[in-house]
Order: sequence, then structure tokens, then C-alpha cells
Amino acid sequence: MDGGGGKVYFVGAGPGDPKLITIRGKEILSRADVVVFDRLVNSRLLKYIREDAEQIYCGKLPDKHDIPQDEINRILVHHAKQGKLVVRLKGGDPSVFGRVGEEAEFCLSHGITFEIVPGVTSGIAASAYAGIPVTHRDMNTTVAFITGHTKTGKAPDINWEYLAKGIETLVFYMGVTNLPFIQQQLLRYGRSSETPVALVRWGTFSKQETLIGNLGNIVERVEKAQFKAPAIILVGENVRLRNKLAWFETKPFFGKTVLLPRGIRNAGDLDQNIEDVIEELGGEVVNFQEVVSVSEEEENQIRDILMQIGRFRWIVFSDVITMSYFFRHFKKLSLDIRSISAGFVGLDGRCIAALSDRGFIPFAFSDWLDRVMPEDEVLYLGSKNMNDLSKAGSRHIKFSVSLSLYRRVISDEEIDKIKQLSEDKALHMVVFTDPSSVTTFFQAFGEHHFDSLFQDIAVVCLGTSTESVLEGYGCKADLTISEESLDKQSIGELLQRAPFRIESLTAKI
Ligand code: SAH
Repeated sequence: MDGGGGKVYFVGAGPGDPKLITIRGKEILSRADVVVFDRLVNSRLLKYIREDAEQIYCGKLPDKHDIPQDEINRILVHHAKQGKLVVRLKGGDPSVFGRVGEEAEFCLSHGITFEIVPGVTSGIAASAYAGIPVTHRDMNTTVAFITGHTKTGKAPDINWEYLAKGIETLVFYMGVTNLPFIQQQLLRYGRSSETPVALVRWGTFSKQETLIGNLGNIVERVEKAQFKAPAIILVGENVRLRNKLAWFETKPFFGKTVLLPRGIRNAGDLDQNIEDVIEELGGEVVNFQEVVSVSEEEENQIRDILMQIGRFRWIVFSDVITMSYFFRHFKKLSLDIRSISAGFVGLDGRCIAALSDRGFIPFAFSDWLDRVMPEDEVLYLGSKNMNDLSKAGSRHIKFSVSLSLYRRVISDEEIDKIKQLSEDKALHMVVFTDPSSVTTFFQAFGEHHFDSLFQDIAVVCLGTSTESVLEGYGCKADLTISEESLDKQSIGELLQRAPFRIESLTAKI
């Protein structure tokens, strides 16, 4: 929480490439209590969000309707009024066709303060990634950003004559559906049918697709290629620059998707390096979005212990997430906080700070070691290995009860998503970074799925110990990168030698 008072930050997530969020944006995101995010935001940005933060998805509902704007406004204000730091994470830049004005005004009218953290807008970024700078001294002095779709769903009522004759480069957002109308209006007011046009779909993602044509033939080409939204449409001479300047689509891993089988948040240094290398090569990384879950049996056990919370003299929390689950379980069971008479102990600084924020006076573990008496009943909540803790300090600590309040699991939807990618031939490589990534994979998917999933996919192991664990499951890697070559540069060079059996799907027209 942000010093007690709630606040809303409208943060630009950038157009897709997860590294195109600003430093400020990432910083605010990592502090958020609640994140309300948009359909076009790259889900990889979720890794910057605190695990105990609440995530609210405000994109299209399953019935393809948007969550009404009033409802979004209400959600923002509701959480901010509870003193929370709310991030409204929007695709691209929040101020460019992003309704930030409406949402900010609503906050203001309810006495909620806000900030706007700009982002990289897709009109500029998708163009740049397609090799089309939106201005060039030899080609244009003006550029306009135009919406191809208004609130009512109709094509916008704009001064087409002025656009056609007066502005050299036109960038349309949300224009794919109304492209025939846009084409017709520009031709009608005198733009040449030879004017080059580009559509860039999923710009700055590895799956970016670019379609080129001219004002005369673009509608036909879009229909033929069944080119769909989300895309920006560029009209103007700048589009020709792409012939020379297309830099992103020529990267070696462009259009390639690489699975790193681990949870999105549990990246060690090596995982992070691999991720950087793949993205640097133009590829897209997929991890598992994990969900937090407890089995019924665990839930019962937690309930039984929390019902007797009064018996403990001390409660030791291993981490801040455990702490927040403790209070969630407490609330769910309708227990009264006053039934706790125990002193609180936090194992790390974040946990101690979070306990203080909730109005408790917690002990740091090392200070607590001097206070705890051998006969005290101690409840240990958390994930770290208790034996190590018991041996810590001079005294021998005995935890009366130890409980883990949550477990991260890979959801069934997530498993289906990966299977679908493989079926669609949209997965190109899997990299097992350490033995635990092999185990995680087999736990989630079962042993018999390996061949069907990875039939056409390059299987890479980092390190021979990872390879042996994989072989233990009866599976073979196409490429094993030895322990001596695990620096970024060698990984980058070696990964490019992996045998790709499927071409990337991206249409190159
Ligand atoms: N605030 C956003 C725009 C929101 S309107 C921004 O600044 O980018 C939604 C439209 O943005 C889409 O219909 C599409 O035209 C465009 N758009 C958003 N992300 C895009 C992407 N990655 N590639 C191409 N167009 C994109």
C-alpha cells in the first residue's frame, strides 16, 4: 500500500514486446496491490506483478463483449478507496485511443488521485518494428494518428478531404474492419491508388505479421490473406522504407516460440539469461502461468490449525505471500483476528514490513531467537525448509506445527494452451534449463505426452545433468549445451544450430 492513501496509476504497457514497458511503468507495476489489465497487454508482464497482488482482467469477456466502461471505472475507484495502489495497465500508451481521460476524470470526481505513466504506442512501435519510421525528412513533415472505429462502432466522421490531401502519413488504429471505407474515402479525395499501404498485426511480438500493398489493392490483399485485427494501418510513402529497413523480421528466431517449462515467476539467473537471448534473437518465450491452489485435504488441515490459533505463542511467517494467504484463509473462515495472541515473526524484510503495515509489531527472526522459550508453542507457516531454520542460531528451535498455505500449480487451461500451440504447429523449441524444469514438465503433462507434443519441436537441454534427467524419462534431446557454454553469447550461437523442423507461421507477403 502506498502510504495509506489509495491511488490509481494509468500505466502504458507498450505494444507487445515485454521490454518496451518503461522503467517507471515496471517500477509502479511491481508495487501495485491491484492490477486491472487490458486485452492487448502482453501477459509476460505479469511476472513483474507481486504474487499477492490482485489481478483483474478487463478485456473481452467470453461472450466477446467488453466489460462496460462504467464497470471498469467503478473497479478502479472501489479499490483505490480501500487505500490500495491500483495500476490500470493499458496496451501501448494510455493516452492514445486508450480512454485514459474518461477513467482519470471519473477517479478525480471521486476524490481519487492518479498519475499517468506513458507507454510506447503501437502506431509508432509496430511501424518501427516493420521497418517503417513514421517520419522521414525526404518523405513527410506530418503524421496523423486516426481511429478507424468510434464509440458507436461506425467509421469515424472525419474531414477525409483534409486527411487525404493535407497529411502525408496516416496511421490508423482499429481500422481493419473499416478498411474498405478508409480506402474509398482516401481515393475519393484524391490520394493516388499507388500510395503504399502497410498493415502490421501483433506488432513488436515475435508473431508480428506485415502485409504490404497500395491504396488500390490493399482491401483485396487483406481479404485474400484473411488478415485480422489487431493491426495498425499505415498509409504513405514511408512504407517504402521497409524494403531497406525491415530489421526485426530478419532476426533468426523471428516468428519462433520457445517453451521454457517453468513458472513465469521462478526465473533464476540462467533462466533470465536464456529468456534474454531468445528475445534478443527475435523469438517469443512461453512459460507456465501458475495458479495458487490447495487441495481439499490441505484446506481442511489449514482450517483445523487456524481454528486453534489461540494456542500458539509464536507464528513464524516464511515470506510475504504466505502472510497474505494467512489473512485470506482467516477471513474466509470468518475468524476474529483477536483470537490470535501469538507474537509474529518474519523471516525476511518484506514480510516484516508487510506485517507492520497491517498494524502488528513483528520480530525479525534473529531477534526472536533470543526470546523464544523451549516450551513455547510455535506455528511455522511457509515454504522454506524448516530443518535449516531449526538449526539456525545457537538455540535449537522446535516448531510445534508447520503448514504450507499455498502451492503453485500449473492449471489445466495452461496445459491445454501449450498442447494447442503444439497442435497448431506454433511451438518451435523447448529448452529445459535445469533438472527441475524436466520434472515440472512431466508432472504437468504426464510422461506419455512428450513424443506427441514435441514430435516436430527442437528439444534442447542446458547442462548434462539436465540431459540425464530427461533421458531418465526415456526422452532424447536434439541439442545439449554443455556446462562450459552457458554464457549468453555461447547459448545464443548454439541455440541457432538447433534443428528447427517447423517453419514459423508468420505470413511474409
Ligand atoms: N493505447 C493503444 C491503442 C489502443 S486501441 C496504443 O497506444 O497502442 C487498439 C488498437 O491499437 C488495435 O485495434 C490496433 O489497431 C492497435 N494495436 C495495439 N497493439 C498493437 C500491436 N501490437 N500491433 C498492431 N496494432 C496494435
